[in-house]
Amino acid sequence: MELIQQLSTLTSNEPQLRLLIDMIPEFIVLKDGDGRWLVTNKLVLTSYEMGEDYSYHGKTDSELAEIFPKNRDNFMYNVETDKMAWDKGQTIQFEKSFHTPDGILRTWEVIKTPIFDKDGNRSHLMIVSREITARKKAEKALKLSEFNYRLIAENMRDVLITIDHEGIITFLSPSFEKVTGYSIHDYMNHKAITLMEYIHQNDYEYIKKFYQDLIYHGKKFNSNFEYQFRKKDGRYIWLEANVNTIYNSEGKFEKLIIVARDIIQRKKYQTQLEAMAYYDHLTDIPNRRLFMNTLSLELEKAASSNQVLALMYLDIDFFKEVNDRNGHEFGDQLLIQLTKRIQHTLRESDLLARIGGDEFVVILPNLSSEDQAKIIGERIVNRLKEPWHIEEQIFQTTSSIGIAMYPKDGTTPQMLIRRSDEALYNAKAKGRALVEFYQ
Ligand code: GH3
Ligand code: MG
Repeated sequence: MELIQQLSTLTSNEPQLRLLIDMIPEFIVLKDGDGRWLVTNKLVLTSYEMGEDYSYHGKTDSELAEIFPKNRDNFMYNVETDKMAWDKGQTIQFEKSFHTPDGILRTWEVIKTPIFDKDGNRSHLMIVSREITARKKAEKALKLSEFNYRLIAENMRDVLITIDHEGIITFLSPSFEKVTGYSIHDYMNHKAITLMEYIHQNDYEYIKKFYQDLIYHGKKFNSNFEYQFRKKDGRYIWLEANVNTIYNSEGKFEKLIIVARDIIQRKKYQTQLEAMAYYDHLTDIPNRRLFMNTLSLELEKAASSNQVLALMYLDIDFFKEVNDRNGHEFGDQLLIQLTKRIQHTLRESDLLARIGGDEFVVILPNLSSEDQAKIIGERIVNRLKEPWHIEEQIFQTTSSIGIAMYPKDGTTPQMLIRRSDEALYNAKAKGRALVEFYQ
């Protein structure tokens, strides 16, 4: 109150106090209870282009609007906002923007404080304004970038998740609903561990361990995971999650940012590629590569359980002639049908593979005797003698089989293949349509 009194009597013969308020980089205006300007500082005078003298002294805003018509709107706005402060009876705060003489649109934060005397009558109105143009600009930029980020988050197909240091989900992008079917609201601000329930059991343990190491033991790492995730409809999707850990300036774990994407398409290609690598494209049965892997495994099994195994080598007799007579595609049809016939004579545990043009192999594990292999071989040869129906033609072919027995004829894949091939050669030499054992 005392300062107000001093300020209100401030005149040019108190140069030190004047210097002081001129140096304050804020707008200062002190008015009396009737709205007459008592004191102001240089910043106000220059911004309002009111000159350097004290011609404002004792004038109301309405009167100043007449004297300085260029700033009429500002003075009239003061009348309005002064009234608001008086009516409210306490400090009001608002923002105000106008073009200063340099042509720049500037913004101020205005604080108006009404002061009443001890009888409750209006005494003074203290106005302090601070320029906040730079802050407003920064706020605007921040809002814009927030808006941009939100736009990205809302429209992207990847799922964005942020998890704080307590394991609480602080952000989930709208794509989460599209990808998983679950509602964002059921998980936002909840423990992230609840979402982990949906991870397939094959991946659950190691991902959970990673997560706990990170959240509870403060281990540092960024990582990529591929895992199956159960959607709301119960089906599984493949997700690839890129996990980034954010630390604060003191190196303490602050949050996790996870970007997860549906990789079902890639997984499909991968499965297709794998199939191409291990299966014969014409007949869809295992190719030489898968046959070799299986034979090694079956031999290990047979060795550890003292079982007998037969390896059959089968080749169509005079297949070239079928091709020559009817064309390659016709020959292909025969290969496909022949594969099906052989498969029908086999057990679930047997493996049929195509390893060359008209060459097939069969692994017969877990046999009781060599005789059993003979019976199966002859059954196949007989089945393959039956007429074929291809492109309205009915015709017959025969096939030959050579057999090598594990462990009698060999204990390695190479040995068994070579010896069954030799047996096949003998079958061909003896007139074909035969089953021959390695001698
Ligand atoms: P053999 O009784 O001695 O086995 O006589 P073959 O005519 O069957 O002769 P061989 O087994 O040596 O030749 C197999 C033929 O199979 C050679 C090739 O023309 C044919 N062939 C190889 N791959 C394919 C294929 O993918 N499709 C078709 N249609 N024919 C093939
Ligand atoms: Mg042949």
